[in-house]
Amino acid sequence: MSALPAHPAPATEIVSKTRIACDGGEGALGHPRVWLSIPEAEGWIDCPYCDKRFILEGSEAAKAHERMGGKAA
Ligand SMILES: [Zn+2]
Repeated sequence: MSALPAHPAPATEIVSKTRIACDGGEGALGHPRVWLSIPEAEGWIDCPYCDKRFILEGSEAAKAHERMGGKAA
């Protein structure tokens, strides 16, 4: 079973809380700030605006992300 979806995300951030805000950062991906809640059972969520992926630190998804060579920025 894969903990992460197969489709690539334009950016990934490891976070330590399930409740996070995303505004897309600067540039073309910018959007109004939205609050997102990471489902603890899944350990990740994609921002519906900019597709940035937030992964909960210590979750299975975070471990899968590390196995794929991903590192927190
Ligand atoms: Zn976003």
